[in-house]
Amino acid sequence: MSESVLPVFQRAPLCFERGEGCWLYDAHGEAYLDAGSGIAVTSLGHAHTELVDVLREQAGILWHTSNLYEVAGQKTLADMLVDATFADTVFLTNSGTEAMEAAVKMARRYWHVRGQKERKTIVTLEGSFHGRSLGMISAAGSRKLVDGFEPLLPGFVQIPVGDVDSVAAVLDETCAAIMVETVQGEGGIVPLADEYLQQLRELCDASGALLILDEIQCGAGRTGKLFAHEWAGITPDIMGIAKGIGSGFPMGACLATRDAAIGMTAGTHGTTFGGNPLACAVGAKVLEVLRRHGFLSHVQEVAGSLRDGLDALVADNRDLFDCVRGRGLMLGLKCRVVNTDLIAAGYAGHLLTVPASDNVIRILPPLIMTGNEAGMVLERLKGAVVRYREGCRA
Ligand SMILES: *Cc1c(COP(=O)(O)O)cnc(C)c1O
Repeated sequence: MSESVLPVFQRAPLCFERGEGCWLYDAHGEAYLDAGSGIAVTSLGHAHTELVDVLREQAGILWHTSNLYEVAGQKTLADMLVDATFADTVFLTNSGTEAMEAAVKMARRYWHVRGQKERKTIVTLEGSFHGRSLGMISAAGSRKLVDGFEPLLPGFVQIPVGDVDSVAAVLDETCAAIMVETVQGEGGIVPLADEYLQQLRELCDASGALLILDEIQCGAGRTGKLFAHEWAGITPDIMGIAKGIGSGFPMGACLATRDAAIGMTAGTHGTTFGGNPLACAVGAKVLEVLRRHGFLSHVQEVAGSLRDGLDALVADNRDLFDCVRGRGLMLGLKCRVVNTDLIAAGYAGHLLTVPASDNVIRILPPLIMTGNEAGMVLERLKGAVVRYREGCRA
């Protein structure tokens, strides 16, 4: 085993050379059906012609100038995000973690400039995931993330998912914001109920605390709405996005209302690479495609048939599966046997899915998946079940 690459990842023994749409090809030319999208990233599939063109074109013009100067592509992308969402202003980042770090800094600065310097605490949910920086592992707080990395950053409190009483109990004059994933991803595909999100919004309004949504995994069309909170009919004050908005080009963004962003004046925050012309060109094209007429209804339609098929799979294999949960093309199969064994049985049948906590198999296909390909995902999952029963294990 080579250790030249720091061995922090549990990698499957697969390596892909090339991709096209929902398919990945290894060095032998073997085709794998991608129902993981590199963890909800390649939203428009692999080698999407329009994205390849826009990236190629920008690569021949300009790569980097820094945020010392105006960057035209940033304004284009930010204007598009403002037009499409609750937000009035956008900070562009390279990753999801950085988007969430910006969100937390913004919430703290908000209270700082309003003269309430004791309002520092950020309330988060158990089972959440906001990234791997010291700040974001402190925010999530789970043993698995923080073990050995202490001391953690103070100022984060975790409460159970779905329990309104415990939210009310922590919302006092020291609380700056509540920060939640609209659909928890790494935690095992746990959608927050619409009613619970509405209650969070109301409690924030009543106490003044800001509502921060982490839509890094569930945003950018993944649930069949452009952003997942639209299902609940609420809007946040601040929202982090990343993953799917770049469809494979590394980028993220922190979106906010004008009011929530009042503390973020010149010199308070920054980034060298964030809002790079290459990333902005790709992000703007992804957003344009996501907003095209019929795109999100296609996602909802394919998601519906996939969901029905998964429900049937669970019903037929009660000894292996507990339930299906999730929304749109962000689906989780909660397993009764070791999830990674079933995922490995899927690899053997050339199907790629993604493990999550709580013994869940994540199904996160590219949003451009056809109904026919969704049928193939279901067939290959059935094949994985057969292979598992025959003794195929990780
Ligand atoms: C992936 C993810 C992050 C971290 O994003 P990176 O790009 O890996 O830094 C944060 N929050 C959620 C919900 C995520 O799924």
